[in-house]
Amino acid sequence: MHVVIVDNGRSKILATDRYIKSLQCIRCGACLNTCPVYRRSGGYSYGYTIPGPIGSTLAPSRDLEKYSSLPFACSLCASCSNVCPVKVDLHQELYLRRQDVVDEGHLDPTKHKILKMTTWLMSHPKLMDFAGLMARKIVPLLPRSILYSKVNAWGKARELPPFPKNSFKELYKAKRGSK
Ligand code: SF4
Repeated sequence: MHVVIVDNGRSKILATDRYIKSLQCIRCGACLNTCPVYRRSGGYSYGYTIPGPIGSTLAPSRDLEKYSSLPFACSLCASCSNVCPVKVDLHQELYLRRQDVVDEGHLDPTKHKILKMTTWLMSHPKLMDFAGLMARKIVPLLPRSILYSKVNAWGKARELPPFPKNSFKELYKAKRGSK
């Protein structure tokens, strides 16, 4: 008699306690529907059979180099972990996956530089506010040839959303003030 066991990379996940909770997934799709990244980008943009937060933690266990960008398609808001009925700690797994990508040398050098610059900018709130204000004013005036050039990977498949008039901080202050 021939017995076939479909492992599909599960043994690899089982061998480490870092990602073991992802094996509990029942594919209900709740984490996809709550994910702000999935809701904007859509399933095809993930390039893996299973999209959304759960796909972004499962895909790198199949091929870390090929799917090295997926753990970064996440704001770490933890909404996915919050709604998961079987308590997969998705945001925590994605955070650990990012560390694997860096440790294994799969982080794109340009992205590395951009992340360093962003870290610096975000630790200077006044400059960050100014950069946001400038982006909201200048980007909508740019011609399509610049806006949709090859540096804008997002624009290859879809239009950019309209830029908001106010920053999140301004909207938050206004909302609190109205209460
Ligand atoms: S919410 Fe949890 S169980 Fe549902 S698909 Fe996502 S990880 Fe799987």
